This record gives sequence, C-alpha cells and structure tokens, in this order.
Amino acid sequence: MNMPYAECPKCGACYQGWALLHSRHQTCASCGVKLKITVNGQTFEGYSPFDAERLIINLAPDKTKKKHQPKR
Ligand SMILES: [Zn+2]
Repeated sequence: MNMPYAECPKCGACYQGWALLHSRHQTCASCGVKLKITVNGQTFEGYSPFDAERLIINLAPDKTKKKHQPKR
C-alpha cells in the first residue's frame, strides 16, 4: 500500500501521510474544505465537519408534516 496523498481542491495545498486515512485529518488545514485523497490509485473525498453538520440538519425531523398515525 502506498502512502496516501491528498490535495485541497480549493487552495491546492498538498498533504501526504497515513494520518489522511483518519477522518479528522481529511480536511484542509488552511481553508477547511474536504481534501481529495488518493490511495493506491483510487481517489475519494475526505471528511469535513461542515458536511457532517449539514447532514445532521437534513436528518432533523420535519415538523411541517403531521406524524402519521395508524388508524384503528
Ligand atoms: Zn485548502
């Protein structure tokens, strides 16, 4: 397995090291966006705490809809 390599799509900063496999190191240190990580020729998007926050908001219950109750 080759050393993981990452590049920031926004500011172009480059990172290299096994720490990139951990989600807490998959964010650009200068601008905070997800890094594009390349491991063994495969590229995947890193983790960003900002995305996680957005995901939590999306998962919040929709209060505009009435709760569906089964009829008896
Ligand atoms: Zn950056």
